[in-house]
Amino acid sequence: MKRNRNCTRCPLHEHCRTTCLWGSGDPNAKVMFIGEAPGRIEDMKGEPFVGEAGDLLDKVLFKLGLEREMFYITNCFKCRPPNNKLPGIREQREWFDCCWPYLEQEIQDVDPSVIVLLGGTPLRLLVGENKITKWEGMEIETVYEGARTFASFHPAYVLRSPSREVRLGQAIARAAKVAGHRVKPKGLEAPRYDYEVRM
Ligand code: URA
Repeated sequence: MKRNRNCTRCPLHEHCRTTCLWGSGDPNAKVMFIGEAPGRIEDMKGEPFVGEAGDLLDKVLFKLGLEREMFYITNCFKCRPPNNKLPGIREQREWFDCCWPYLEQEIQDVDPSVIVLLGGTPLRLLVGENKITKWEGMEIETVYEGARTFASFHPAYVLRSPSREVRLGQAIARAAKVAGHRVKPKGLEAPRYDYEVRM
């Protein structure tokens, strides 16, 4: 289903400024990141991951010698939930059923060879698994035929738990390598990382 800026499929459109906010990045990317939902800044600017969490993601990519422009980044939910708060699981699932045709279209359009699920929400909604702490860094059941799928912590979680940045970097490095990207850790803190691919 193509993007509909006037979408009213779920109640989320009532509260946000940018309705049906799609992903951005390389439309032919080999790696697609899927996050949760746009936040305040994303809603304002009409682009995903351009707030604090996006800055952290950019920083981690930079430390790996990668750039956001190499990837496609999107979200499960296409409108900002009020106060960034998602409802309970049942309602979440109902709303996601409304957003899924858009996300599915994005996945089909980009046709990535690797998908990275950022955080517990895409893990739950797309794979049906609850524990991101169990699955982060691991390859999981694919969410799209032909695309290897990996789970990682969400950058917003890493903002609250900075020691997890290493794990986020490792998960992204692994996924990027699998997709054929050259990962070259750089930057001041790079030597702290262990970016070996664990297969
Ligand atoms: N968090 C997300 O999951 N997505 C965004 O676009 C921004 C923050």
